[in-house]
Order: sequence, then C-alpha cells, then structure tokens
Amino acid sequence: MELTFKDNVVLITGSGRGIGRSIAENFAEHRATVILSDYNAESLANVEQAFKEKNYPYLAVPCDVTDEEQVSQLFENTIASFERIDIVVNNAGITHDTLLMRMKTDQWDSVINTNLKGVFLVTKAASKFMMKQRFGKIINISSVVGIIGNAGQSNYSASKAGVIGFSKSIAKELASRNITVNVIAPGYIETEMTHVLSDAAKEAFLATIPLKRAGSQIDVANAALFLASPMADYITGQVIKVDGGMVM
Ligand code: NDP
Repeated sequence: MELTFKDNVVLITGSGRGIGRSIAENFAEHRATVILSDYNAESLANVEQAFKEKNYPYLAVPCDVTDEEQVSQLFENTIASFERIDIVVNNAGITHDTLLMRMKTDQWDSVINTNLKGVFLVTKAASKFMMKQRFGKIINISSVVGIIGNAGQSNYSASKAGVIGFSKSIAKELASRNITVNVIAPGYIETEMTHVLSDAAKEAFLATIPLKRAGSQIDVANAALFLASPMADYITGQVIKVDGGMVM
C-alpha cells in the first residue's frame, strides 16, 4: 500500500522544532497539506522557511495551545483555507523538572496547562469539525513516564498519564463518528528537550533500553504516520510505546 496523505490536512502543535517538526516533515514528504503551529515565533519561521524551500503545501499559524482563543483562531484559519481537518497531532509539550518538595505551584500549573489542558482544547476544537466530516485521526503524544512515573517529573508524568486517560475516553466518545484517537508514548528521544539532561542521566536511560540506543525523532514520526494512515483504521484508544523496549 502506497502511504500517501495527498487528500489530508494535518495539524501538528509545537511543530517548530523537535519531534513535532519531524512529524510535520514526515507528513509533508508523504504529500499531506500541513498546518504548522507553535508558540515560538522563531522556530515557526524556521520550519516555515524549510517548507517553502521544499515547496510543501502548508499553512503556518502561531498558537499557544493553552490559550482557548488562539486555539479557536487556529482552527478558523485552517478551515477557512482548506475547509477540512483530517489529522491532528497534539505534540506541544514542556517540562519543569524538580522534586515534589521543591516544586512551585506555577511549575505544576504550567506543565499541566500545556501538556494536558492544551490537548483538551485542541482536541475539542478539532473534534467539532471531524464529527461533521465523519472522519478524523487524533494522535496525542504522551510519554513512557506517564505509564511508569519518574522521580523529579511528578508534574510531567501526571500530565502525560492524564493524556492517556483523556485519549481513551475521547476514543470511546468519538468512535461512532469514525474518528480514532491514539497515543504515542515515546521513551528517551534525542531532541533539544532531552539535550539538557546530564551525561549521567543519559547513561541511566540508555542502560534501561534493550535496543541500546536513544530514539530518533523520525522513530516517533513514523509511528504517527502509521496511526494516521488507513493501515490503522481499526486501531483506537491505544497507547503505542516508541521506546526501544524500555517499558514492556
Ligand atoms: P521540544 O521542546 O524540542 O519541542 C516542543 C515544541 O513545542 C517547541 O517548539 C516548543 O516551543 C513548543 N511549545 C511548548 N509549549 C507550547 C505551547 N503552549 N503552545 C505551542 N507550542 C508550544 O520537545 P520534544 O520535541 O522533545 O517533545 C515533543 C513532545 O514529545 C512533547 O509533548 C514531549 O513531552 C514528548 N516527549 C518527548 C520525549 C523526548 O525524549 N524528547 C520523550 C517522551 C515524550 P519552545 O521551544 O519555545 O519551548
């Protein structure tokens, strides 16, 4: 089966850099029309430039996923330009790691707001259009730490566990409208987010990975492509780990 998304409009939040950008480029290489979105204007301009140079069809819309008004504007712009939205990848995410005893309330709030409330706002806005179309694929990026926890990441793992519970509930709500909702739980992936980890922390992660390497952004992007494709039409409410076997 040829993997093409030539009739599909795909939105990826936080696609200015890292995993989100790789997902966006992977879809574009498979002929999708891509809605690039990020709250970081500089990153968004960079990825936009790369898309322009490659002649990929795209629309770039700045959007902070924690802001309901901006999310609503994102979908208005998308529908005004393309009249549909087929695939949404909720990728935008942040960390503010520290032990519970040192965690400030604003560190808790900002992580929950971005990683969990952001997924709620974008999914709610997308599902309105997808329900009318009677078609949609929603892919939410969680993390293996949302499954197994991680010391120093209670806010992040709570948000990522929340994404899993949210996605399973929405998968049940939207299934009758031919909308699938699945989760990707990456393990340790080399991006700017993990670049800041100490060598000791990186070694500790690597020691737990049976495939003995960190994941690459394209490993995650390929899973997103599969879940968005017709090959995954009968898969919904699932959590696919992309972690080299770290959690099994
Ligand atoms: P990056 O920090 O490299 O990229 C995330 C992008 O999202 C950045 O451009 C960031 O902007 C943007 N962003 C942050 N907050 C918002 C917001 N409120 N609205 C819109 N855009 C926002 O992260 P990764 O690529 O590493 O991670 C992508 C996703 O994968 C995240 O959900 C992360 O939790 C998840 N993940 C990553 C893993 C890894 O090992 N890297 C492992 C497991 C899960 P800015 O640059 O300004 O912050």
